[in-house]
Amino acid sequence: MSDCLFCKMVTGEIAPDVVYEDDDVLAFRDINPQAPTHVLIVPKRHISTLNDLEPDDARLIGQLSLAAARVAAQEGVADAGYRTLINTNREGGQVVFHIHMHLMGGRRMGWPPG
Ligand code: AMP
Ligand code: ZN
Repeated sequence: MSDCLFCKMVTGEIAPDVVYEDDDVLAFRDINPQAPTHVLIVPKRHISTLNDLEPDDARLIGQLSLAAARVAAQEGVADAGYRTLINTNREGGQVVFHIHMHLMGGRRMGWPPG
């Protein structure tokens, strides 16, 4: 998707602050962090929302969680704890329509989220 912000990060057209990368997944720091650690983990293949997942994408979505746990350890927040979440569509608060998992840590998270 040539007009997708996160696809441009995957191709390198825009250079994010990358904290983890493998063949299928890219993780980079959120430009507007809401916690001391705020990382976005995206599949390299464009998928717009959680609603667009196909059964064959199950492994790829699992890889986002695996990458999140890895980044949490790397960032030193794994033991204290952290939050992962995926926003979907308008009421879910999604503004970038390329699936991404937020990883937030380094402070106590409130519940319920706003
Ligand atoms: P969401 O609301 O779940 O779609 O999250 C989109 C996230 O992307 C927000 O937390 C933004 O701060 C973040 N974001 C937007 N533009 C950039 C960028 N150029 N680099 C890093 N993060 C970004
Ligand atoms: Zn995309």
